[in-house]
This record gives sequence, C-alpha cells and structure tokens, in this order.
Amino acid sequence: MNEHGVRTVDNLVIGAGMSGLCAASALKAAGHRVLVVDKGRGIGGRMATRRMEGATLDHGAQFVTARTERFERWLREAGEAGAAFEWCRGFSTAGDGHPRWRGAPGMSGLARHMGAGLPLELGRQVAALERAGLGWSVRWKEGGAVEARSVILTAPVPQSLALLDAGNVVLEASIRQRLEVIRYERCFAVLVVLDGPSHVPEPGGFVPETGPLAWIADNQKKGVSALPAVTLHARDAYSVENWDRDRDAVAQELIAAAMPWLGAGVLSYEIHGWRYSRPQETDFDPCVVLERTPPLILAGDAFGGARVEGAALSGWAAAEALAECLGDPKSSQT
Ligand SMILES: Cc1cc2nc3c(=O)[nH]c(=O)nc-3n(C[C@H](O)[C@H](O)[C@H](O)COP(=O)(O)OP(=O)(O)OC[C@H]3O[C@@H](n4cnc5c(N)ncnc54)[C@H](O)[C@@H]3O)c2cc1C
Repeated sequence: MNEHGVRTVDNLVIGAGMSGLCAASALKAAGHRVLVVDKGRGIGGRMATRRMEGATLDHGAQFVTARTERFERWLREAGEAGAAFEWCRGFSTAGDGHPRWRGAPGMSGLARHMGAGLPLELGRQVAALERAGLGWSVRWKEGGAVEARSVILTAPVPQSLALLDAGNVVLEASIRQRLEVIRYERCFAVLVVLDGPSHVPEPGGFVPETGPLAWIADNQKKGVSALPAVTLHARDAYSVENWDRDRDAVAQELIAAAMPWLGAGVLSYEIHGWRYSRPQETDFDPCVVLERTPPLILAGDAFGGARVEGAALSGWAAAEALAECLGDPKSSQT
C-alpha cells in the first residue's frame, strides 16, 4: 500500500495470453517482482480451450509452429513436461514436413505451462491506465486501483489504445499513427459436440477451399477430446459481413456448411466471435516502449508476428526492454 492506501506492485503485466505470460516469466527469472492480471476467467487469451458436455475443444489458436530456435527450445521443454505434443506435419495428404504442436490437454495447457508459478489474478478487467506518482495507476472496471512502477500491456492494440485514452495518456503522434493502422481479422468460432465420430480426415484438421469456413478441426482425432467434437472457424470476410446478425442463426449456417465433414448428429453447440482474431499486419518492432520512465511497454502478436510464437517473442522482447529500463532488480522497491 502507498501513503494514500492504494495497493502497489512493482511490475504489472496486463494480459495472461502468451505474450504476457512470456514477459512475466522472463522478468521473474531475471529476479524482478511481477504480477499478471487478466479480465478472463482462465489463462491463455486467444489460446483458449473449452469444456462442453464432457468434450474438450480448442476454440482459438489450433496449433503452434516454431520458426525460431528460442521458441522451439521452449516447445521441446514443454513437450518433456507433458504440456505439448506434436500433432502432425501438415494437413494435406502428404503433409509438408513442418511440425504442428498442440497443448495438453488443449491449447490452454501451453499457457498454463508458461504461467506456472507466476503471481496471477484473473477476473481483473483494467478500465484505464494513467500516470501516478512514480509509476502508473491502473483502474479496475469493478472499482479500485493498483499502482505499478512499470506496466506491460498485451491486450490487442485497439483495446490497449482505449485503456491509454481512458487515462489520458498522450502518445507521440508518429507512434499513435503506427499503432492505429494495426487491424485484426474477425473470426466466428463454432464449437460442436457430436454423437459419433466426424468425417474430418486424418490428422483431424482440414482447410476448405471455398465457402464460409476457413478451418475445421476434429478435437478427438487431434488428441484433445475424449468425445467427438469439432471446432469450426469462419473466414474473416464472412465474419465481418455477419458480425451483427443473430449469433444462433450464424452458428446454424456454419454448421450447415460443415455438414459434409460432421458425419454425425449435433448434440450441442456454442458460438464465439473473436473480434480481434489475428492482426492483418504487424509492426516492425517486437514490442514498443511507449515510456522509459516510468516504463510502459506494449507487446503482443501485433508486434512479434501474427501467431502464438510471435506473441511469445514479443513478450520476451518486452521483458528484455523492461529489464533494461529497470536496471538491477536488487535495487527495486516494493
Ligand atoms: C480463431 C483463432 C485461431 C488462431 N489460430 C492460430 C493458430 O492455429 N496458430 C497460431 O500460432 N496462432 C493462432 N491464432 C493467433 C494466436 O492465438 C495469437 O497470435 C496469440 O494467442 C496472441 O497472444 P497475445 O498474448 O498477444 O494476445 P491474447 O492471447 O489476446 O492475450 C491478451 C490478453 O489480454 C487480456 N485483456 C484484454 N483487455 C484486458 C483488460 N482491459 N484488462 C485485463 N485483461 C485484458 C485478454 O483477456 C487476453 O487474455 C489464432 C487466433 C484466433 C482468435
């Protein structure tokens, strides 16, 4: 607590998706005190796994790939710990030889592995971020605030900008312009529990060439679900065009489009709209240091690359940038 009775923390990471968790675990490993907060009920952000009627379904990111040595090393370690498994090497008959990894039991297992041992508060929605004393004041949506010496913000960029605007944080015009051009695809995800095995071909992932669906995955063939359950992802164009329609009607339309691959009766379904699914273009830096004193850094897949690995690289880069701003952790105050 500070002299005004406001709770204080050293370093606050907003967002428990891959970028926030990577940033926090690298900071912790370097000896810095850190707290991660997220508005969600679980960790992983867009790497989300849902349980429905005894089935387990990945409804955001479907698999991860590694193009860098650092992320590949981490994935192998996660594999040795039982948190990651190689799913397949491509979705065409021949495959392309490039490993696709899944989490265990689902994709959120990767996030749980990255976040193991981190101080984490879920169900904490930030409403605004503003300058206060020697650091930043973070206001919660439900009321109250916390003050932090430094903040790493990993929400999708439009949401991060809204939090800064709500706290009257003024950005340099060139940086603001750079951030405002980052746009995201939208994606409807429909989760369907079936009463029998699906017709999705082995290894359980399929990319339709035409129609509203961009992706169909069989979570059972993938090794995620004990019961037959498929995940349907709509194309960006379809999702944008149908965003404001009745969600149940959209779900039924997408299920109808998936009929040739379902091959069994539908027991139940849910639809989720990802407003910020994947960035359409990414920034040229792996993270953006908005302020050095007190430190305020933006990270996420919009900086490191539009996939889980990009989010991880951005989180690690943000941790390095912050550590440079903070200096020796032994000299940090509570
Ligand atoms: C449908 C879909 C399919 C995808 N498929 C793949 C794939 O197959 N392979 C792949 O590599 N990538 C895929 N991606 C992309 C991948 O999921 C992302 O690149 C990655 O997970 C982004 O991580 P992140 O940490 O940058 O952001 P996020 O995971 O979005 O994390 C940000 C976190 O910030 C939290 N947050 C936001 N605002 C606030 C607030 N005000 N207060 C508190 N917390 C807040 C959110 O709850 C969230 O948990 C897919 C994404 C989607 C949506």
